[in-house]
Parts: sequence; C-alpha cells; structure tokens
Amino acid sequence: MITTKQVQVPSLIAKLEKFKEKLNDAPANINDIARSHHLDSLFMHSLNGELNLESLAIVLKNINSEKLIAKAINLNKELYKKKIEFYGVSYIADLCVNDCTYCGHSSRSVHEREMLDSINIRRDFSEILKYKPSEICILAGEHKFISPEYLANAANIALDIDGGKSLERISFNVAPMQEFDFKKLIDGVKKSEQTILQFRVFQESYDEKIYAINHTRGPKRDFEFRLNSQQRALNAGFNQVGIGTLLGLNNEITNELVGSDFEIGALIVHAYHLFETTGSFPATLSIPRLQAVVGSNFEVPSPVDDERYIEYHSILRMALPQTKLIITGRETPVMLDKLRPLINIEDLSTKPGVGGNYRDAVHFQNMLGTTCSSEQRIRTVLNQGYFVDGY
Ligand code: SF4
Repeated sequence: MITTKQVQVPSLIAKLEKFKEKLNDAPANINDIARSHHLDSLFMHSLNGELNLESLAIVLKNINSEKLIAKAINLNKELYKKKIEFYGVSYIADLCVNDCTYCGHSSRSVHEREMLDSINIRRDFSEILKYKPSEICILAGEHKFISPEYLANAANIALDIDGGKSLERISFNVAPMQEFDFKKLIDGVKKSEQTILQFRVFQESYDEKIYAINHTRGPKRDFEFRLNSQQRALNAGFNQVGIGTLLGLNNEITNELVGSDFEIGALIVHAYHLFETTGSFPATLSIPRLQAVVGSNFEVPSPVDDERYIEYHSILRMALPQTKLIITGRETPVMLDKLRPLINIEDLSTKPGVGGNYRDAVHFQNMLGTTCSSEQRIRTVLNQGYFVDGY
C-alpha cells in the first residue's frame, strides 16, 4: 500500500539529481561575509532538521578552511563533550559474488575464501571484546551462505561473550537485504531492550555512472537497491542505520564540480531524506579514503588530500550535528590525531580479513594507515584528554 507520505516525498534519486544541479550552478569565489552567512544558514537549518540545499552547495564550493574547522571543532566539543567511543570490527566471512574494483575480497581475487563457524567467530569476537568496546561491527561479503540466520547467530555469540558488560550496539556491515530478510535477522537476535541493532552500509559512490564502472558483477550492481537499503532496514525494525561513501572513487572533475564534493553533499542529502521518510537521521556516518589493495594494481582514481579530508569532516559536523562521525585505522596516526576533535567513534586495531582479531596473517580487504595495537589506540585517546566509557 502506498502511504500519503510516500507520494509526497520525492525519491532520493530525484533529490540527488537536484543537488547536483545546485552544485553545478553554485557560484565560486564569493566573499568572506557571504561564506560565513551560508555556513551559518546550513547549520541553523540543521538544528531544525532542515537542509538548506543552496547553502550546502555554496559551502562546498567556497571553503574557508580556518573558520570552518574552528566552528566545527567547537560544535563537536559542545555536543559530545570530548567523548570517544571505540568499536571492534570482525570479518566473519569473505565469500563474495560481487566485483568491486577497489576490494581485496572481490570475486576476482584468487585467494582461499572462508566463512567462520561458531567456534571461530567466538575466538575472533573474544579477542576484540576484551577491550570493552561499546560496539561490535560484524562484516561479511555477499553470498547465499551468508544468511540472516548466520548473521543473527554471530550477534548472539557477541552478546553471550559480552554478558551485558560493555556492548551497547551491534552493527551489521553486510549486503543490503529485502525487508523480510532484515526482519529475519532482527528476530534471530536474542537481545535485551537496551541493545541497539544498526544496519550500516556505504553507498561507495552516489553517482550512478561512477558506481556502475566500479561494480561490474553481482547483486551489488543494483545502485537503487543499495541506495534504499537503510530505509528498508528501518522499516523492518532496525533501531538505527549508518551511511557512508568511499572517497577517492568519484573522479569527475569539471570547471563546475569536483566529484568528491558531490559525494559529501550527496551523503548529507541522503541523511535528510532518511529523516524525512523515517523520522530518523543516520546514527553514524563514515567517509573512508580508498587505499591500495594487496596483490592488485588498482590505483585510487582521484585521491582526496589531507586538508580537504579534514574540511569534509567539518562540513559534515556542521550539517549533521545529530549523526556521529567515524574514523578508522585506514588513516595514519597523525591524521587520526588531526581528525579526532571532529569525530565521535574510532575503530580498535583492525586487520581487515577473516579472523583478523585472532590470527597473525589474513588476506586483507584493503591496506591500513596505522598498525598500532588496540591498547595503543585507547592509550593515545586517553592521553589526549578524551573520555572513553569503561576507562
Ligand atoms: S566491497 Fe564488499 S561487496 Fe564488494 S567485493 Fe568487497 S566484500 Fe564483496
């Protein structure tokens, strides 16, 4: 049945097209007063749950780094009181039928695939849960064996190991599903009222052409199915969702538009679309930068430099104060230090491969910028004066 709300709200694809037009048409090189005005307008609207699309486009094209970053840092401190949450990551299966150009677990890659059984899931989770993270993020490729029941069983193992000590949230960074499969997954998790289930998936690129070039095989080719997956997850009963985009993939650069600017704006459009259609902003957001892939000659199409990367986090902070920003060990320790005042969640030390928490050698999905241990990561954050639950 189509509800009145669904009829009235334009599709996310239509909104993305409209944003792209605005970004194309937005003036560049405006003066400082106009810049400040648009940044303030973007922020003031965000406090009312509204998106000022014109100001967003103008801000992206006219960044005054110093003022933007200072404002975003102040806002983050005011809202989140120097608190950093840690999350553990566990790759439980790298079976995958998709072919993503940038991924070491792509169906193209010739390496021994694996799907951890309950015993080894327990071993992997135990190694990461001993650091008392507030979240565990369960990752897997896309394959018919990776069923809702398999994922729910993994979540139950995490809950059993934790025994109600530190875990507030279990997130599933897995392939998008139909609503009925999301329901099966949720129904299979034996959780308390307090435990939050999050479905987290990144669109990789919000540009359909770029998306098509980089996803050439398997169900992941369906751009729209992925785009609307957070909405299906919330409809099915997930408590919250996470969104993201893979920076460095979109290499469109014209006189009017830079691909990565579009991706950041598109993420914000997506977040407000979710709010409009479901009443919930995404709980988390991440913009990982593409890294090289082990054993592949993949080259990042359009790398985003450090300064721009910090500016993007600042814009996201100002436009989406309700959403927690995530950074990961894909970044170097120096960059983690620079980004930390703008973000809210960090991963513990992660080896991006199956069983990476308990095995010495695994097949990596991507390279890392930092190889510090979980102890070192936590110690660094505490030494810098941040608060971490349980420490
Ligand atoms: S990114 Fe995910 S879906 Fe794509 S090939 Fe890698 S594991 Fe499969």
